[in-house]
Amino acid sequence: MPGLDERLGDVYDEVLRRNPGETEFHQAVHEVLDSLGPVVAKHPEYTDSAVIRRLCEPERQIIFRVPWVDDTGTVRINRGFRVEFNSALGPYKGGLRFHPSVYLGIVKFLGFEQIFKNALTGMPIGGGKGGSDFDPKGRSDGEVMRFCQAFMTELYRHIGEYTDVPAGDIGVGGREVGYLFGQYKRITNRYESGVLTGKGLAWGGSQVRTEATGYGTVFFVEEILRTRGDSFDGKKVVVSGSGNVAIYAIEKVQQLGGRVVACSDSGGYLVDENGIDLRLLKELKEVRRARIAEYAEERDGGTRYVPDRPVWEVPCDIAVPCATQNELDGSAAATLVANGCGIVAEGANMPCTPDAVRLFAESGVTFAPGKAANAGGVATSALEMQQNASRDSWSFEYTEQRLSEIMHGIHDRCLEIADDYGTPGNYVAGANIAAFTQVADAMLALGVI
Ligand code: GLU
Repeated sequence: MPGLDERLGDVYDEVLRRNPGETEFHQAVHEVLDSLGPVVAKHPEYTDSAVIRRLCEPERQIIFRVPWVDDTGTVRINRGFRVEFNSALGPYKGGLRFHPSVYLGIVKFLGFEQIFKNALTGMPIGGGKGGSDFDPKGRSDGEVMRFCQAFMTELYRHIGEYTDVPAGDIGVGGREVGYLFGQYKRITNRYESGVLTGKGLAWGGSQVRTEATGYGTVFFVEEILRTRGDSFDGKKVVVSGSGNVAIYAIEKVQQLGGRVVACSDSGGYLVDENGIDLRLLKELKEVRRARIAEYAEERDGGTRYVPDRPVWEVPCDIAVPCATQNELDGSAAATLVANGCGIVAEGANMPCTPDAVRLFAESGVTFAPGKAANAGGVATSALEMQQNASRDSWSFEYTEQRLSEIMHGIHDRCLEIADDYGTPGNYVAGANIAAFTQVADAMLALGVI
């Protein structure tokens, strides 16, 4: 593979061979290996112990049938997944994604990313991910509940507060976590709060968990700006997506004095030069579960909805992709660069293609990779586990303070390690090397496992 150190090229070839057709997983592995050349050159123990090859093979992969009955009485079958990737630092931790695009390769890419992201938080959590090809869009509340119950009827035997702790991701929010937790509790007859995170505030959830991924990404950008003596004040920001991550990224940018002029969904994007009206957006997405096309109809002046076009054509100072993997390609990146965008921070998991990331590097655009910039969600999940373990619940202010400290800590660590390895200002190298060495050192200490 071009660009990879020979030892790492061998590892990558093995990953290609063992996981045919799983292109997102290949991409995620390549992105990490690409940063590790200077690390294996300096530390032969990582190659001698095969720790990188071990890291690329999940500890356990579970695939199961999820049969459920829809509102017409028809029996439906979906496929469920849980990939328990690495538990060197703690119980497997990572979300569940319900989306028709979900297959083993997506779950593995997300699980692999999660190992490193979770390590960067500094919290004792391993990496895992799961989900299903079930599409919650257009499904009634009763159908979603029955699906969640059927999904948990298999998953429950694989999870536990010391084993594997799922949470939400695309298509899995507070409602779904509720139904999943209810079924776990019913089957096991245990009120085991720490088995899932993203729970409701009345039954073991944490303040700030809903906001955490979006807020965390913006805290990370705030720190990038601060290192240059700058701030969000007056900055024009474009956010893609309009789900949970996007909504709370927009909210925090606005609180810090920036102006978010555009967001999107899979049908197109909306521009509001006065700044997105968050109250209206939340009402549409969180209450009515509607499309953003309706936003423009309800707000007059300065607002436009543009169907079937990438949101990245809207000029901005800072771009925050918060939708899904590979949503921002080389051509979108070229448009952003041409329009003078200076910072790109990934709120979603791997939203920028390798071409886009390369172009940002060549053009001097600061790029913050998701495993560092969007770690706030899972970090707050770890804070939720901490509260559950001590049967405590913390205030919004205290929890947000902890989140902000964690994000600033991740930022500083990435920069420090990037410096140590001779790539100053390179957040990709900093994040990958800092996370890899932490996990690999733990694996070495634990023997050949
Ligand atoms: N799905 C989120 C992520 O990609 C959160 C996972 C969690 O809280 O366990 O990091």
